[in-house]
Amino acid sequence: MVVAHPSVAAYKDTGDNKLARYTDAVCRLCRNEGTKLFLKGSRCFTTKCGIERRRYGPGQHGQNRKKQSEFAIQLREKQKVRQFFGMLEGQFSKYMETATKQKKVPTGLKLLQLCETRLDNIVHRSGMAPSRAQARQMILHGHILVDGKKVAIASYNLKPNQVVSIKEKSQKFVKDMLANSPVAGTTTSWLKVDQENLTVSIINQPSREDLDPTIKEALIVEYYSR
Ligand code: SF4
Repeated sequence: MVVAHPSVAAYKDTGDNKLARYTDAVCRLCRNEGTKLFLKGSRCFTTKCGIERRRYGPGQHGQNRKKQSEFAIQLREKQKVRQFFGMLEGQFSKYMETATKQKKVPTGLKLLQLCETRLDNIVHRSGMAPSRAQARQMILHGHILVDGKKVAIASYNLKPNQVVSIKEKSQKFVKDMLANSPVAGTTTSWLKVDQENLTVSIINQPSREDLDPTIKEALIVEYYSR
């Protein structure tokens, strides 16, 4: 009998549009990467955050981590970014392929732009969903419109001048979420959020200055070039 590795076993096919979903304790992912990945919505901004309470890796040997090899550093950076955006390996490596094929912008920047312009990320960044996982659920349940049309694909990549809005019937609960969102009101130069009308306009592709300065995308590019 073949026994799946625990990290693989934690992914289950939910039958929800054939999306696999990580079903184990998500705080373990943050503790494994040694950084906050903000996977649990508002809890991530409180003292109940798993990484605030236990600042060491998960599991029996979590407190005895050894020096990492060059490969392990590259792998961890890739896993950190992939898990931050809530993607599976296949989706992430396809983004990498697309980023490598184009020649207009540096590969690492293109990879991050593809992650950032996903519909689930934009719904979360605007404050309309407390986490990317909840944003994905709202999209799959048909609450989100792009240029006035329902889009039920969480990985849909948005382009400049497109507008994300909320289905009329769903606006009340989204307004309530926005009122309690810890990320609402955070401004970015590439997104324009209208909290009154519940719309998000994409102004342009995010530049490197708009993105998380702690991400070392060069390590991810090196990981895939091996
Ligand atoms: Fe990560 Fe959020 Fe859990 Fe903190 S509460 S460890 S940021 S998922």
